[in-house]
Amino acid sequence: MISIAIANQKGGVGKTTSAINLATALAATGHRTLLIDLDPQGNASTGLGINQRDRGHSSYDLLMGDCTLDEAVMATLVPGLDLIPATQDLSGAEIELIEVEQRTHRLINAFSNGSDHRWDVCLIDCPPSLGLLTVNAMIAVQSVLVPLQCEFFALEGLSQLLQTVERIRARFNPGLSILGVALTMYDRRNRLTDQVADDVRACLGDLVFKTVIPRNVRLSEAPSHGMPALIYDMRCAGSEAYMALARELIDRLPKQEIAA
Ligand code: ADP
Ligand code: MG
Repeated sequence: MISIAIANQKGGVGKTTSAINLATALAATGHRTLLIDLDPQGNASTGLGINQRDRGHSSYDLLMGDCTLDEAVMATLVPGLDLIPATQDLSGAEIELIEVEQRTHRLINAFSNGSDHRWDVCLIDCPPSLGLLTVNAMIAVQSVLVPLQCEFFALEGLSQLLQTVERIRARFNPGLSILGVALTMYDRRNRLTDQVADDVRACLGDLVFKTVIPRNVRLSEAPSHGMPALIYDMRCAGSEAYMALARELIDRLPKQEIAA
């Protein structure tokens, strides 16, 4: 299994939208996929149609050692896509984790105790911070995918994010790499977003995925219907872009790792 954290400490850049739709695209192309909702907001869980009351064990329970990986996993409406949902108690976890043993390794420990051979790919939707939840994710994965919104301050904060990845690689997780940077909410009628996309490519080169996610209203409507855009409207520009991004992502993965 290969696992990928979707991280950026900025809010509203498209982490959750990317997590839901990439996970759906991966499942639709025959990859058994697990999505872990690690954001106390629980938007990835809601966006997959899992209501608060239907969430049994959650990513919080898993981190606290109150359940096993198998107990935390639930099926979704997407065939081949499983979810570990987030509940509101996760909002206390940043503080509570400080007190517990191995606070940075809770997630990876949960994985080594469980049966992760059930999936080919695991995506983790991170919260908008570089706190202990995101650190737990970065220690548990092989790769980080960074959604970057095409707006004027896009690159601001990126060096801090890259520095965090570097520190975690040096101290805890030598195999950690950046899988790529995905440009989101691209608006071709707006010359500024074009400029930003050019600047980001000039700065980061091949790290940036060729596929750009357009600003697309269907992508923002889908979560209120409790389904991924790829199911809500599989032909909209946003869905097509996420399918293309998933293909690029698969091409970047080491083949032996995703083979079951
Ligand atoms: P994050 O998880 O980084 O906070 P979200 O994925 O929740 O970001 O996106 C923030 C908001 O922008 C949400 O309301 C979402 O529906 C909307 N959104 C995300 N990507 C797009 C897009 N490509 N086009 C239009 N709206 C988008
Ligand atoms: Mg989010």
